[in-house]
Amino acid sequence: MSHQVREGRIVVISGPSGVGKSTVRKELLRSSPVPLVRSVSATTRPPRPGERHGVDYYFLAEDQFAQLREKGEFLECFQIFGGHWYGTLRQEVERILSAGNWALLEIDVQGARRIRQQNPNAVTIFILPPDEEELVRRLTGRGTESPDRIAERLARMKAELAFAGDYQYQVVNDDLSAAVNQLRQILLEESRKGSTAATE
Ligand code: 5GP
Repeated sequence: MSHQVREGRIVVISGPSGVGKSTVRKELLRSSPVPLVRSVSATTRPPRPGERHGVDYYFLAEDQFAQLREKGEFLECFQIFGGHWYGTLRQEVERILSAGNWALLEIDVQGARRIRQQNPNAVTIFILPPDEEELVRRLTGRGTESPDRIAERLARMKAELAFAGDYQYQVVNDDLSAAVNQLRQILLEESRKGSTAATE
């Protein structure tokens, strides 16, 4: 597949649950040096209080999700916590890229691997927690999950940390504005690379 100069890029952000990914993402979207648009994922998990369909996720029933999956409508999709499905819709990303924007995907390590395989031009960033204690504190403090679910998320977090090295960039989120600054810098550098070098 060839990528034309100036074509928008896919930016993948992953990181363990509770690492502050969504805050980092929101700040980055507000202040990105490239025209960055969030790709809204589909999921079968029920909405949390305050979450809106089409904004936070496309909240789908199991059978709706399965139909889309069978039709090949996902760039990647996986079953994550508690068996819920999450997936990046092909059309969502194509709509963003074809408008000349960059697509921001906040997805798990399995999804990120799939995107990297399909799209070697994607920029991949892993957000690391400052330390484990702080992470447990944040996870518990969120107050939206049962103790069982928190334990499950912690186990998953430890497994996810092992994948940090598969990403092009690792950013430690010990200070929000410092982390967002680093992300801005990464995107700026990548946009400069993109304007001088077309890939295969
Ligand atoms: P949450 O349920 O807390 O919103 O998200 C749980 C996990 O699902 C997070 O690690 C998030 O990055 C991941 N996730 C969200 N959307 C997608 C997606 O479209 N694909 C994949 N593979 N993971 C996703």
